[in-house]
Amino acid sequence: MPKIKKLLVANRGEISLRIMRTAKEMGIKTVAVFSEADRLSPHVKFADEAVCLGPPASSESYLLGEKIIEVCKKLNVDAIHPGYGFLSENAAFAKKVSDAGLIFVGPSPESIEVMGSKLAAKQAVGKYNIPLVPGTEEAISDIPAAKKIASEIGYPILIKASAGGGGKGMRIVENESEFEEQMNRAISEAVSAFGDGAVFIEKYITSPRHIEIQVLGDQLGNVVYLFERECSIQRRHQKVIEEAPSSVVSPEMRKAMGEAAVGVAKACDYYGAGTVEFIVDEGLNFYFLEMNTRLQVEHPVTEMITGKDLVKEQILIAEGNPLSFTQDDLSINGHSIEVRVYAEDPRNNFLPDIGTLETYIRPQGPGIRVDDGFEEGMKIPIYYDPMIAKLVSHAETREAAIYRMIRAIEDYQITGIQTTLGFCKFALQHEAFVSGNFDTKFVDRYFKPEVLDPVFDQEEKEVLAALAVNFFEKLTSKKSQKAESKSEGKSSAWMKRLN
Ligand code: ADP
Ligand code: ADP
Ligand code: MG
Repeated sequence: MPKIKKLLVANRGEISLRIMRTAKEMGIKTVAVFSEADRLSPHVKFADEAVCLGPPASSESYLLGEKIIEVCKKLNVDAIHPGYGFLSENAAFAKKVSDAGLIFVGPSPESIEVMGSKLAAKQAVGKYNIPLVPGTEEAISDIPAAKKIASEIGYPILIKASAGGGGKGMRIVENESEFEEQMNRAISEAVSAFGDGAVFIEKYITSPRHIEIQVLGDQLGNVVYLFERECSIQRRHQKVIEEAPSSVVSPEMRKAMGEAAVGVAKACDYYGAGTVEFIVDEGLNFYFLEMNTRLQVEHPVTEMITGKDLVKEQILIAEGNPLSFTQDDLSINGHSIEVRVYAEDPRNNFLPDIGTLETYIRPQGPGIRVDDGFEEGMKIPIYYDPMIAKLVSHAETREAAIYRMIRAIEDYQITGIQTTLGFCKFALQHEAFVSGNFDTKFVDRYFKPEVLDPVFDQEEKEVLAALAVNFFEKLTSKKSQKAESKSEGKSSAWMKRLN
């Protein structure tokens, strides 16, 4: 069996660092790659060796598959871990890696290819009796026929790009009159974003939860599931808070979803770590959405509740080892929550807020894990995803994990840029989140920038009001009559706001 001695991580930031930490613990040498924008990144410093790939743009650095393979040859690397994003779901790259005699830490190119197309994936799982969202099983080519299917399914429907990812390439159609326009938009978006205009129809589940199952398979055909992750707190179809286990999944439902996920993996002869995503309706019926053939951003919550290091398992599988545990060996220990901390301004439509981390102090303490790729004083580059960190809590119960997370958010000190920490705290304290009674519309339904305004208790209000009155009295005594009436107005507006 080939033993991996030197691993190159074809990625950047937090995930590169997270993968290399495990590699080091396994006695494997590490090679980092970086763009000119990431020269000073912790992942570059952490690696045994590091190679600059080129200018900041991903297309001139992290996406240069051939160049990365060249680096491997030069440095005697024997395996590549692609992380998530970038080249991780690129079947052609995975093939080139193995053609070059290197180990790709991930599934086979064939599995990536099948699951990379949402349509091909639905077809592949056909014989495994996996529930699918009602819709079309082929790309739309005939508009009148598609309209007919849409009205049979019933509006609203969703038009989806087969090659879509990252929450992009989806359009909701509320009624038949919008159908053609939305479909044309979906096609042109799909062509420009993914270079593939194939789109299909799915029933739009109006109050859905996104619940996914982590699977691990070895190259001998053994596949197990590592339970679910609840990822319904999303913004623009992208996850912002994830947790494991889900508060709506019963042991029976967990087993049914887990077995369905194993079926999906078997349908494409899957090996490695993968995620089978399901959408769950109000009646707790679950339907297969897609499979992500890579390590997932939110994998830490699964690690916390199962005690398994998913990157270690990926490496062992890539070497050809059989899984060292069976389904019966796995169990859930406690509860874990992850929040994605982004350099975005929640008061300004979550626009990326790029700048320097003037202060950057991580929370610490029992049951807290921070996966990040920055240090104080560093700039958040504009070229990539603006995620600063993943903050993870683990505790015995869901309630304790929520309190622990809120404590950690309060301890996290970041200045110099706006972050989504305050937004995450709002979500975690919201009655709907606490009760577990929420769906993917949580953010649209409950979040308004005003909820981030400071809330004062009665005593604080009185002190502030007294200070304001005192301030304006002093001010007005020095000013003309006209100015006085103006500032009195301001002062009373202040008092009103405080109440
Ligand atoms: P996860 O469920 O792990 O959060 P996402 O779908 O949000 O998965 O994607 C993870 C990362 O991969 C993100 O950085 C996202 O921007 C990127 N990504 C996902 N799909 C694509 C794609 N088709 N093309 C480019 N980047 C993608
Ligand atoms: P991506 O490849 O972009 O991750 P997914 O198919 O996984 O695409 O969908 C992303 C998100 O979009 C889901 O988590 C869910 O919030 C929403 N979504 C997808 N399909 C449906 C559907 N049929 N009905 C309602 N919401 C959906
Ligand atoms: Mg998805």
